[in-house]
Amino acid sequence: MVKRNIEIFDTTLRDGEQSPGATLTIDEKLKIAHQLAKLNIDTMEAGFPIASSDDFEAVKLIAQNVEGPYICGLCRTVEADIQRAWDAVKHSNKPCIHTFIATSDLHLQYKLKKTREEALEMAKKGVRLAKSFTDRVEFSAEDASRTDKEYLCEVIQAVIDEGAVVVNIPDTVGYSQTEEFGDLIDYIKENVENIDDAIISVHCHNDMGLAVANSLEAVRRGAGQVEGTINGLGERAGNAALEEVIMNFKTRPDYFDCDTGINTTEIYPTSKMVAEHTGISVQRNKAIVGENAFAHEAGIHQHGMLSNPLCYEIMKPEDVGKKTQLVFGKHSGRHAVENGLKKLDYEFNQEQLNKITQKIKDLADKQKTVLEDDIIAIADYELNKSSKKPKVVLEELAVMTGNKITPTAIVKVNVEGKQKISTAYGIGTVDAATNAIRNILDSNIKLKEYNLKAITGGTNALADVSLTLTDSLEKEYKARAIDEDIVMASVKAVINGMNKMERKK
Ligand SMILES: [Zn+2]
Repeated sequence: MVKRNIEIFDTTLRDGEQSPGATLTIDEKLKIAHQLAKLNIDTMEAGFPIASSDDFEAVKLIAQNVEGPYICGLCRTVEADIQRAWDAVKHSNKPCIHTFIATSDLHLQYKLKKTREEALEMAKKGVRLAKSFTDRVEFSAEDASRTDKEYLCEVIQAVIDEGAVVVNIPDTVGYSQTEEFGDLIDYIKENVENIDDAIISVHCHNDMGLAVANSLEAVRRGAGQVEGTINGLGERAGNAALEEVIMNFKTRPDYFDCDTGINTTEIYPTSKMVAEHTGISVQRNKAIVGENAFAHEAGIHQHGMLSNPLCYEIMKPEDVGKKTQLVFGKHSGRHAVENGLKKLDYEFNQEQLNKITQKIKDLADKQKTVLEDDIIAIADYELNKSSKKPKVVLEELAVMTGNKITPTAIVKVNVEGKQKISTAYGIGTVDAATNAIRNILDSNIKLKEYNLKAITGGTNALADVSLTLTDSLEKEYKARAIDEDIVMASVKAVINGMNKMERKK
C-alpha cells in the first residue's frame, strides 16, 4: 500500500516570529525561507502582511525569490486584510492565502463582539474573496478546540462550499488533550458532508506540552497537514516542533503509515539557522535538535553504543543532518583514536598517539565519556608541547567597552619573532579583538561558529570558548581555549585556530 502523504506547513516566519523576544530582519527572513525550501516543506507562512509594512515587504520578497513551497500570507476575514495578503503573495508562482476568524463563543463575545451568524457570514465572504484571487485558500477557525462542535462543522462546511481547499483546526491556546483532539477530527469527518473536498490541517500550541502529541494523533485520525515551527517557536510556549513531528513519522512508519516529502538531513542546519537569527537557543536536551539529543553519557550506554549504536539509538544523527560527534570511552583503542584524530585533521607520530590515547583513557575513567571538544583540547595541548613553536603568540591585549564607547581592541602579537600591533572596532569586545587579529594575520579568515560555556557557576566561572574558523578556501579549523576572562579565552581560541591553519600550510 502507498503511504499517505502528510503536508508540512511551516509558520516559523509568522507564528514563530511572534515568540516573545524573537524578531527577524527582512534579510534574515529571506535566508530562513531559502533554507525552509531546501528542507522541502509544502507551505511556508511567510508573515501577516497587514500587520506592518515590514511584514508585507518580507512576504513579498520571499514570494519573489523563493521557489518550491506554497508561499502563504495570513489575513483576517476582512477585505483590506485579504487584499493586502494577496498583494504580497501574488509574486509567487504558488501563492496561498490563509484567512481566519475565531469561532468559539468566548472569542466571539469578548474579542470580536459578533454573533455566530455574523462570524459565519464573514468567513464565507472572506473565503469567497480570497478564492477570487487564487485557488490555494486555507481557512482557520481560531480557537476551534473550544468551539461548539456543531457550529464548527457548520462553518467548515460553508467555507469548503466557498472554495477553501485546506481547513485548519487550531488548538489555539494549547487546551486540548490528545485523545479529545483526535475525537474532534473524527467528529468533523463524520459531520461535515463535503470534508473530502478539503485537506484537514491542525495547528497545535504547546501550553501544556502536548502540541506534537496532539498533532500526531490528529494525523492518525485523518488530518492531512500539520502546522508548526522549527524548534517549536511560537506564541507563549510555542507551536508543535516540526522536527519532532517529522521524525516521528520517519522513525515509526509501522505506527503511522504515512510520509512527508521532507529532506530530513536539512533539519539540523535549519534548526541552527533559526536559533542563530531569532536569538532563541535550543535547550540542550530538546528532542531531535538539542545538543545532547544524540550524546550518550552514562557508562553502560556508552559501552552498548560503541559495540552497536542501535542498542540505544532509534535515529541516526546523520538522518537529521547532524555530524556524528566523535565519542570515546575507555574501550577505545589507539587505532580508533588515530582515526578520530585524522577526521579532525590532526597528524601525530606514534609516541604522541600513545600519549594522547592514554590521556583519553584517563579522562574516560573520570567522566565516562570523552566528547569531541575534549579530544580537540587534548590534541591541541600535545601539539603545543611538541618542538614546533606556534607561529603566532599573543603578547598584549587591551579592550575598551562601555555604554558610550564603541568596543575597541588593541592586540599585539608576535609572528615568528616579529612584533605586530593592530587596533579594531567591533560589535562587542570579542568581535573587536577578533577583527584586530584578522587585520594582522589574514583578513580572509572568518569566524564561522562561536560557542561560550561557563565552567562551574558564578561570576568567577572559567570561560570555555570553542570556535570554528574558516580560511579563504572555506576549510574549517576547530579550536578551543579556557580563561578566567571571556575576551581572553576568545582571543586565545582564535590564535589557536590560526596556528592550526599555519601548521596545515
Ligand atoms: Zn498559532
